[in-house]
Amino acid sequence: MAPPPDPAFTRILLKLSGEALMGELDYGTDPERVAAIARQIRGLHDRGVEVAVVVGAGNIYRGMAGAAAGMDRATADYMGMLATVLNALALQDALEKDGTHTRVQSAITISEVAEPYIRRRAMRHLEKGRVVIFAAGTGNPFFTTDTAAALRALEIHAEAILMAKNGVEGVYSADPALEPDAQFIERITHMEALERGLKIMDSTALSLCMDNRLPLYVFNMDDERNIDRIVSGDRVGTLVST
Ligand code: UDP
Repeated sequence: MAPPPDPAFTRILLKLSGEALMGELDYGTDPERVAAIARQIRGLHDRGVEVAVVVGAGNIYRGMAGAAAGMDRATADYMGMLATVLNALALQDALEKDGTHTRVQSAITISEVAEPYIRRRAMRHLEKGRVVIFAAGTGNPFFTTDTAAALRALEIHAEAILMAKNGVEGVYSADPALEPDAQFIERITHMEALERGLKIMDSTALSLCMDNRLPLYVFNMDDERNIDRIVSGDRVGTLVST
């Protein structure tokens, strides 16, 4: 069999929503799903691609839900950020069991369990072949982990964000679960996605990507071959670029 082509990227940032870690469960992390993600990350790493990961927390807690229930929004958002730390540790555990060296860096200081976020140190870890998991989002309420993904990707000079989705192949003209006629979109600009209000990532995050010409690959994480295909330069899912 021919060896895989040289990877199309040297450094990428993988955005995993909390739901990506939840599998078929209603809440929390599904160990099998997390192990499957760890294997895919190892595959990337084995091909020499430097991988940073931003994890969400929708499987545990979202600030908006707390605010809707009458909590102070900032307090609820801090709870959401702390919930991302739980997911980061679950992913770290699965990666290390699978033989991949990792570091978790948290935007909220929590020094017993994770390093603080230090940009240059994160980049050094990546150069040394460690997978860096960024936890606690941006460290600021009123933001999301999508914005954290855009921000960290730019800070560490990642060449692209790989946005993992579950159950959908990429971006559609409307929510395919609600509108069966929704059209799959293979390629789109950030600007058009913003104008059409397509649900790729929130508008703050998408604007940040647009302003800095950072491409996004939106793909279905349920197919374990997809990440490898994207890194091989194959057309998979939706490409959002300028
Ligand atoms: N959050 C925040 N600031 C950030 C990142 C996250 O306040 O920079 C909070 C926010 O309450 C959010 C929760 O953490 O709802 C979980 O993150 P997110 O909703 O982005 O998770 P995902 O949808 O990716 O699972």
